[in-house]
Amino acid sequence: MTRCALGIDIGATNTRIAVVDDQGNILESQHLPSNMAAGAPFFEEVGRRAAALARRHKAVAMGAGTAGQIHRATGKYLPGLYPQAPWVGVPLRDILAQTAELPAFVDNDCKIHAYAELKVGAGRGRRDFISLTLGTGLGGGIIAGGRLVHGAKGIAGHMGHISIDPQGPPCPCGNRGCLELYASGTAVARLASRAYGRELTSPEVFQRARDGEEKALAVLEEMATALGRGLGAMANMFNPELFVLGGSIMQWYPLLEAAARRGFRASAMTELQDTPIVISPLAGEGGVIGAALYALDQLAGGNV
Ligand SMILES: [Zn+2]
Repeated sequence: MTRCALGIDIGATNTRIAVVDDQGNILESQHLPSNMAAGAPFFEEVGRRAAALARRHKAVAMGAGTAGQIHRATGKYLPGLYPQAPWVGVPLRDILAQTAELPAFVDNDCKIHAYAELKVGAGRGRRDFISLTLGTGLGGGIIAGGRLVHGAKGIAGHMGHISIDPQGPPCPCGNRGCLELYASGTAVARLASRAYGRELTSPEVFQRARDGEEKALAVLEEMATALGRGLGAMANMFNPELFVLGGSIMQWYPLLEAAARRGFRASAMTELQDTPIVISPLAGEGGVIGAALYALDQLAGGNV
């Protein structure tokens, strides 16, 4: 019999809850606005909605990927980049498990996305790859030897905080010139605002670049070169079989590809320069699919 689980994707803006079967098919899903700033009551609401879906589909477990950093052993939010945030210390795993009365497994959303790539995405059948998610920020997940890399606390894979310029702007993580400050939606808006002398959103910049506007193209050149250099640093460290790039920005990848490859060739060692860079086939669904499969695999005793 096909088993199914709840997959929950808690983003900065929206939260999606889906029922997913063990083959990665979405059977039903719903959205609600994210309100992490409300702390525990918001996560209880997510748990109640998940519980209703779980009963209807006889789901056996629940997985959640969330923005922010989660301590792997406790399932609580770590201070991470925002130590004063209202969700810090909130026991996400326990809240979901108790509210929905199901076994719950929680982790960072970008790590969960990497798990989805491994199970049903571009990393299927691969043992070593890096998944990056480029949206508002830049997050990542590392698959090594066919397994998700967690690190000591569970926060491995924050590739957005590789510093590519020690003289660069300060980052909330405490470092300077982090990759995320150059290669993310926020970064595109920041670089464009500097170039244009007024505020622009990242979709505006991409559209202007698509229309051939030189200033916008220069901004994307800077952004994509930084991305490529970051990928090169990751390649030198992990020698992945491939990179999988996902997230909302990747719809614009044709505008970024040439500069990203130039940046990559400039920083990756010779033997690594043929590392493929592919776009995620999972569109916006990797979060919920990965979370559900992550839960099912852990419930089955898999060391994932
Ligand atoms: Zn940083």
